[in-house]
Amino acid sequence: MKIFMKMQKIAWLTILFIGLYSCKKEEEKAPIIVKQEIKVAPKYEFGFNLDEFDVVVDTIRSGDSFGKILFENHIGFGKIEEIVQATKDTFNVKRLNVGKRYTVLRSKDSIQKAQYFIYQSNKIEYVVFDFASDSISKAYTAKKPIKLVEKTASGAITSSLSESLDTAGLNIYISHELSDIYAWSIDFFRLQKGDTYKIIYTERYIDDSIYAGIKEIKSAVFVHNKIPFYAFDYKSDVVEGITDYYDETGKTLRSQFLKAPVKFSRISSRYNLKRRIKYYGNRIRPHKGTDFAAPIGTPILATASGTVTESTRRGGNGKYVKIRHNGTYSTQYLHMRKQNVKKGQTVKQGDVIGWIGMTGNTGGPHVCYRFWKNGRQVDPLREKLPAAKPIKEALKAEYLTYIQPLKAQLDSIKFEPIEINKNNN
Ligand SMILES: [Zn+2]
Repeated sequence: MKIFMKMQKIAWLTILFIGLYSCKKEEEKAPIIVKQEIKVAPKYEFGFNLDEFDVVVDTIRSGDSFGKILFENHIGFGKIEEIVQATKDTFNVKRLNVGKRYTVLRSKDSIQKAQYFIYQSNKIEYVVFDFASDSISKAYTAKKPIKLVEKTASGAITSSLSESLDTAGLNIYISHELSDIYAWSIDFFRLQKGDTYKIIYTERYIDDSIYAGIKEIKSAVFVHNKIPFYAFDYKSDVVEGITDYYDETGKTLRSQFLKAPVKFSRISSRYNLKRRIKYYGNRIRPHKGTDFAAPIGTPILATASGTVTESTRRGGNGKYVKIRHNGTYSTQYLHMRKQNVKKGQTVKQGDVIGWIGMTGNTGGPHVCYRFWKNGRQVDPLREKLPAAKPIKEALKAEYLTYIQPLKAQLDSIKFEPIEINKNNN
């Protein structure tokens, strides 16, 4: 009995020893297994049936290289060199970035030799290196299948647009899109309490389930001062690939100038020829600009395309930029922290020409926006500015038919309670 116990003990120890030994041996042979993070993978990914392979999923770490990873997955240096040469026109393997996901599909046999290396440059795009066969290796780029899901949202303005969208759980992209769409038609600095918006937008999902952001706003209606401003995204020039937003009659929402040179700021002082300032003994100090207050460093945008005629620093103006748009109009932007353009440079509407600062004569961070018409300063908020081109006459009937169901859908969106999709954040 005692002997039997002893034998059993020896047997156990032997098994334990063999076990430890074999583990160690395997680790030396294939160190990759240590960092292997196999998750419950879907059967198909990147167009492969994963069940047919030994799958290694990992992220690029600092010190990793294409060669190192392949070598760890049992590809010899000669073959690695051949793969790099054969695929260099599709993807430069030196461009692997730390933190990006990769997948190695290895043979299911005991050799576990890599056959495909898949590098995901982002959530959607990936590149496949195919060296499964003994013949020449190749590489190709591909995209994961994207499902578009249409959503609707609505809300009312309580204080500012961004705050309202925030309350509605809508992400920053929506507010930027809306302010872009309506930059030429609604003054977002003078929104009223009770202004409302409804939007139809599409979201992207990868492999049916992974949220990948908002694709676009298809249509919107913004009710400002009880006036509805409709916007419909429409491909108005198939040849040039131009899409733009038009209203319910086919008019473009763009006019020649942006309503403001800063997104999401507030007007701290309007154009006022009879302004009196206490500091100067209540004397009249006309203010021939419109001040937009915003934090230091906020980008200042060209309100229309044109040529930079001045980019300098002078007295009370501080650092400023002046742009000539045509024979009639020029605009000027004062108190910048720094300019982003040089004299003589051409700028497009919406380009960042500098950043909000406090240079020159100013009590706080803002841009003083000055609007020149025929050499005289005027109040842009009172100017009747020319509108841009409407939709082509030949396309108008088609457009009006296209927007009919969208408009009906917009009109049927209920305001209360606000429909919220918290997943958007
Ligand atoms: Zn000013």
